[in-house]
Amino acid sequence: MLEYGCNRYVCKNASIHNQYDQEEEHTMAYRITDNCVKCGTCADTCPLGIISEGEDKYVIDAEQCVECGSCAAACPVEAIEL
Ligand code: SF4
Ligand code: SF4
Repeated sequence: MLEYGCNRYVCKNASIHNQYDQEEEHTMAYRITDNCVKCGTCADTCPLGIISEGEDKYVIDAEQCVECGSCAAACPVEAIEL
């Protein structure tokens, strides 16, 4: 019996499981470009606290970014992009 196989005709949760699969494959994240002037606004804005000060610019932990866009909207020099 296909209990966890997510065969779309058998598993009642197939659509949900397929959605998770797509999210896992989704590797996009916001990144900070060299235009960063190190004002720190993005780090204060990120709800997850995953932006830290790097040597030349601030850096986003891409593994944890949920792509909410708050940092990009707050950056005064538009240094954060997808
Ligand atoms: S808000 Fe923009 S300029 Fe300021 S630290 Fe973040 S990326 Fe750099
Ligand atoms: S997009 Fe959202 S979660 Fe990702 S670094 Fe920016 S503020 Fe944080």
